[in-house]
Amino acid sequence: MKIIQNPHEIQKDLITLKKAGKKIGLIPTMGNLHRGHLSLFKLAQTHCDVLVGSIFVNPMQFGANEDLDKYPRTLNDDIKKLESINVDYLFTPTNDIIYPLGTNVNTSIEVNRLTERLCGETRPEHFRGVATVVNILFNILRPDVVVFGKKDYQQYMILNAMVKDLFMPIEIIAGEIIREENGLAMSSRNKFLSIEEKQKAAELRKTILATAAQIESGKRNYGSLQQEAIQRLQNKGFKVDYFEICNALDLEKATDTDSQILIACAAWMGQPRLLDNLEVEL
Ligand code: AMP
Repeated sequence: MKIIQNPHEIQKDLITLKKAGKKIGLIPTMGNLHRGHLSLFKLAQTHCDVLVGSIFVNPMQFGANEDLDKYPRTLNDDIKKLESINVDYLFTPTNDIIYPLGTNVNTSIEVNRLTERLCGETRPEHFRGVATVVNILFNILRPDVVVFGKKDYQQYMILNAMVKDLFMPIEIIAGEIIREENGLAMSSRNKFLSIEEKQKAAELRKTILATAAQIESGKRNYGSLQQEAIQRLQNKGFKVDYFEICNALDLEKATDTDSQILIACAAWMGQPRLLDNLEVEL
């Protein structure tokens, strides 16, 4: 695997490969790689000729009181994992490369509407940071195909919309959520859970599944289903940010005629804020 920090150097290599007819696949990450990330690389491998990963802990997507400094950085281990699955290139830019003027950038990318609900309510600047860095990475690396995880379903929807709205010549693919044995969605933030908290955190998935079962059995009183789920999570020690039953196509509150539903939840268990979701087809 070629590990490159310099954007011009990696761009030159990738453009040469593109000219030779190779399809470039990209998985953008913030590192601290786990099986969830690796599943995206493996999925991309079946859609491209040259597989590129990026590791960049993006300061622009963290709010002032969030965990940027504490975010786990494990580059050497990450490199070993990517080498073991035959990734071709790893791009590891620094903050100065991506944001030469600091994160108070001249240009940023704002995706409307989809960014306003769910995570956007508590993290108002977050998706502007995500969309901006992903644009920068796309412009440097010129991928043909990019895989995002459904674990961050709203993020996937936003970036998919950005690519469509701006006519970017990129195919976006969504990878399924990879979970720990107890059902908890894998996340770099799970390592901040104590053993006891990790056991309790399994309730997030269970609550989403229980809500899905009620919807599948015909219940459409979404407001009260949400309240029941929030109560159940609070009883287990979660501080709930949101538990929402949405239309999976636009993330607006689901109505009883919607047939593609997304149950999405963000909740703190101790220090980390955990995300999970489930698509329900009616
Ligand atoms: P991150 O490093 O957290 O920015 O995540 C990089 C990519 O990995 C994003 O597209 C995430 O949605 C995806 N991802 C993170 N955790 C998982 C998981 N448990 N299963 C599948 N994809 C994941």
